[in-house]
Amino acid sequence: MISAGKYFKDKFGHKMYKAAVSLNVTCPNRDGTKGTGGCAFCSAEGSGEFASSCTLPVCEQIDAAISKLSSKVPADTGYIAYFQSFTSTYCDADTLRKVLTAAASHPKVEALSVGTRPDCLPPDIVEVLSEINRSIPLYVELGLQTSDDKVAESFGRGYETSCYDEAVKVLHEHGINVITHIIFGLCGETREGMLRSVKHAVKCGTDGVKFTCLYIIKGTRYEKLYNEGKIEVLDQQEYFDIVEDALSLLPQDTVVHRLTGDGPKKTLIAPSWTFNKRQVVNYINRRFKDLL
Ligand code: SF4
Repeated sequence: MISAGKYFKDKFGHKMYKAAVSLNVTCPNRDGTKGTGGCAFCSAEGSGEFASSCTLPVCEQIDAAISKLSSKVPADTGYIAYFQSFTSTYCDADTLRKVLTAAASHPKVEALSVGTRPDCLPPDIVEVLSEINRSIPLYVELGLQTSDDKVAESFGRGYETSCYDEAVKVLHEHGINVITHIIFGLCGETREGMLRSVKHAVKCGTDGVKFTCLYIIKGTRYEKLYNEGKIEVLDQQEYFDIVEDALSLLPQDTVVHRLTGDGPKKTLIAPSWTFNKRQVVNYINRRFKDLL
């Protein structure tokens, strides 16, 4: 495996940071197509808490994200416009082309990253992604979360794992880099099951991975289960033990984009160890310094 920092430095010649962008889209788990209310763990913002309002033009959102970051990052930093919230390809092909083209035209943007679901990649959307990927490096981030269809059904993912397999194949046929999101600690999943998800993504040829622990967020279905004592969250040691095992399963060239996520501060309920971001970063730096 290779750390994202090293991978980006080799590819772009300097550090890369993400400038979060949100689009005026929802997702099939929210608009009634596959379900309503979203996945059992998903926040009302659809994981887009770090972006500006979707009502602002894309380049203004990028400017706002860059100005927030600029005092903390080196002057020669490059930026990845990150379409993170909800399902960024859940729109028509022309709209997607327009927003991706606008982001790609921003003078400080050197790559794009598009978060989506594997069941939201019809041929015309893949064609747009492929077209954009020919002009600027493009990453597609797929929310697999688990390869266990029963666990996925329990949180209401709304597609089968075979759909993810097919999406990775199609994106690769178009030369598009795939990053797979996996959650450790989902309700009903064993440690072996979590590692099976990693093996599955590797078998499908994912180019990169993002791991996160399960967060309990206010207003979600998991909050209710958590309050009723029906879900437990992983403690820090347990979670990073699983991460360490997961890293050992990755081929040399798989890029590790994230070892854990960032829960939205205002609505985060558990795990409590994730509240102190600095402490988590220090822990990761100590424990994984030789691995990444
Ligand atoms: S996690 Fe993704 S697919 Fe699930 S409800 Fe949230 S935005 Fe939709």
